[in-house]
Amino acid sequence: MISIEEALRLVKNTIKPLLKETVKPVEKAGGYKLYKDVFSPINMPPFRQSAMDGYALNLNDSLTYNLIGEIKAGDNLQPNLKKGQAVRIFTGAPVPETANTVVMQEKVVVNGHSISIQNQIPVNTNIRSEGEQVTKGTLALTRGTKLTPAAIGFLSSLGIKEVSVIKKPLIAIVTTGNELVEAGEELEYGQIYESNSKMLLSTLYSLNFYDVTIHKIEDDYKTTLSKLKEVITDNDLVIISGGISVGDYDFVGKALQELSITEHFYKVKQKPGKPIFFGTKDNTHIFALPGNPAAALTCFYIYVYIALQKMTNNEAFELPRIKAKSTSKFIKNGDRPQFLKAVYEDEKVSILEGQSSAMLQTFALSNAIVFLPENVSEIEINDMLEVILLPN
Ligand code: AMP
Ligand code: MG
Repeated sequence: MISIEEALRLVKNTIKPLLKETVKPVEKAGGYKLYKDVFSPINMPPFRQSAMDGYALNLNDSLTYNLIGEIKAGDNLQPNLKKGQAVRIFTGAPVPETANTVVMQEKVVVNGHSISIQNQIPVNTNIRSEGEQVTKGTLALTRGTKLTPAAIGFLSSLGIKEVSVIKKPLIAIVTTGNELVEAGEELEYGQIYESNSKMLLSTLYSLNFYDVTIHKIEDDYKTTLSKLKEVITDNDLVIISGGISVGDYDFVGKALQELSITEHFYKVKQKPGKPIFFGTKDNTHIFALPGNPAAALTCFYIYVYIALQKMTNNEAFELPRIKAKSTSKFIKNGDRPQFLKAVYEDEKVSILEGQSSAMLQTFALSNAIVFLPENVSEIEINDMLEVILLPN
């Protein structure tokens, strides 16, 4: 059995970024990182644009201008303005070359076919110049940039439809257990609804990992062996739930051994989640998490989360940890370091009732995990605690 620190170190050191390329439609590239630099195919904006609803002027010394027409957004017009002439113009419309400034409509008094302004307007006011954001052929976004919604919008504004991004891992979730049935089916005596695959899938989706398949196996050695062999061959990351403990019907450990998986660790001195396996076969990493739902989710956040961040070359690969004052008392059972479901609010943290690793309701109400190290056995109100903030 190894310590949490050693287990974390092994995960961090073992997993390398998966730097493979894939091409995605831009609208489905959110959360990915650019594999290559992107150069702009156009000037952006592609023409001089009005930044306001107002009037485009060919300035002279006077404060009165003759109106000679109108340009709306999308119009393809280039009226020739002489000095002292103006056109009505709207936001996003092309500013004619012969106009040298735009005055907002709030600053204008209209008298039939002429307008007057109160003060002289400097040239190039309220005009977005051609290529102001980026010019054709220059670097728009650097490789490695994470595609946020703003980045997706920016690339789309350049007319880009597809982007080359760093591939995300193909992930398999494998559940084990004869007792598990799908929601929608009637529960027979001895059965429970399968929940870990849905829970893990939703954590993956919320972290922008979409290439996930789900596999269910019964507690039978042969099927465990053949299914694990298949998913380990086909995926970059395999997350197994249950069957890793020491019961007579826990076949995952034996199957992983039979498949010659390189074991990095199996059992960590922690609560919950003592039986947890991490191994590698070729380039595929395998985590076998405890079946108890709250333990599985805790182990996901502590270990698998880091693996996912490392595989996708993210620098901030651990969940944020902060210190906060406890609003609860707690007595630790046993000497293992413990992860406790908790609520963090206003710089304080409260440890929730119902810490059993089978209880998900408590987890559903928490937004943080309190970490109690080995040498802490009792928590008093106002003790400073280490808090791991969970992603929303
Ligand atoms: P195991 O790790 O297989 O011994 O399972 C530990 C506990 O977690 C047992 O009570 C199982 O019924 C439960 N469990 C295992 N897998 C799941 C799952 N996918 N969904 C819900 N509960 C599960
Ligand atoms: Mg089981």
